[in-house]
Amino acid sequence: MIYKRSSELFAAAKKVIPGGVNSPVRAFNAVGGEPVFIKEAKGAYLYDEDGNKYIDYINSWGPLILGHAFEPVVNAVVEKAKKGTSFGTPTEIETAIAELAVSMVPNIDKIRFVNSGTEACMSAVRLARGFKNREKIIKFAGCYHGHSDSFLIQAGSGAVTFGTPNSPGVTEGTAKDTLLADYNNLKSVENLLKANQGEIACIILEPIAGNMGCIPPKNGFLEGLRKLCDEYDVLLIFDEVMTGFRLAKGGAQELTGVNADIVCFGKVIGGGLPVGAFAARHEIMDHLAPTGPVYQAGTLSGNPLAMAAGLAMLTELDNRPGIFKSLKEKTEYLHKGIAGVLEKNGVTHTINRIGSMISVHFSEEPVVDFSTAANANNETFKKFFHGLLENGIYIAPSAFETWFLTDALTYKDLDATIAAVDKVTKEF
Ligand code: PMP
Repeated sequence: MIYKRSSELFAAAKKVIPGGVNSPVRAFNAVGGEPVFIKEAKGAYLYDEDGNKYIDYINSWGPLILGHAFEPVVNAVVEKAKKGTSFGTPTEIETAIAELAVSMVPNIDKIRFVNSGTEACMSAVRLARGFKNREKIIKFAGCYHGHSDSFLIQAGSGAVTFGTPNSPGVTEGTAKDTLLADYNNLKSVENLLKANQGEIACIILEPIAGNMGCIPPKNGFLEGLRKLCDEYDVLLIFDEVMTGFRLAKGGAQELTGVNADIVCFGKVIGGGLPVGAFAARHEIMDHLAPTGPVYQAGTLSGNPLAMAAGLAMLTELDNRPGIFKSLKEKTEYLHKGIAGVLEKNGVTHTINRIGSMISVHFSEEPVVDFSTAANANNETFKKFFHGLLENGIYIAPSAFETWFLTDALTYKDLDATIAAVDKVTKEF
């Protein structure tokens, strides 16, 4: 493929935007080479500035579960825009989407809308701290909750230690209040709870992890966390920015039957516009300003265009009960196909999958947490990524990301993807 125009655009972007991108992973740093600049997209396909076409498995990192430029969403945004783009006042549509979200997700009474997943998680943790009047939180190595200070904590080897900042700019003071546990390891959590009794406000996690590739919780892990939270009187926060409205109407809570105290959303809930949200039962949500003392606000929060996109998206998902099953079946088909050709071509691998999330790890051992994900062969991943890109398949440019399937993908697209994996890995 020719990437001439993308290359020129990247050179121009680097002069005025740090690294040429507004979010680091887009720069292809993890895999080398230069990013492709996308001009437009429709359904399952992306078209870049050089006219190359790709089957897309990133889908804007998750939001576009029904494919690109999905008409009901696009029309809703266009119609809304004609009536004004922002008022900074309450609007009826905010209540409409809130009612719908609350009706779709178990165990929540109220929801507040923000502008990103980062804001949702940051605000959820502030609310938990304010509600419990405690300062420490527990997060898991390898889980990502956005770029707010408390979450940018390095994956240390020992779980029962204070966190250290992994980004300059995060103060030691902030880092010491974030305690690190190992995903899928209840003992690591219990040790922290025991050692910090009465000091921990909440545990936050991706109930199904998607930021170290896709890593589903082991049987009993989420149930065990719920039990520990009850025992130690700590709030459980599910970061469902990836999984919310993707794995089931009610997200991971519905899928696993485990209830969280606060749930964070992003991605699908905004239909591709900048939206995040956090939700909980009345008694917790009423702790937020203006009813309660915990401050949280936003000039563009509940923005009419964003709410119109989100409402159109959730309405569609709510009206199509078979959608999550059909997405799961497509993902299962892709899994079987890819596993078949990798075995045939003698490529060591582990594939993790749940619902419409899937990731391929070039690892012999099961990938169950950050350290097993980090042990996979990154050089093989780089070859895999570039080979697929060259063959018109766009997966995330990092092994620490999940693939997201959409309803727009046909079985023909899946077959083409499996054939490309075969072609690329034959040469390994
Ligand atoms: N939480 C999770 C689980 C995420 O995957 C992400 C983003 N990939 C975020 C939070 C942050 O969301 P945003 O990028 O919209 O700030």
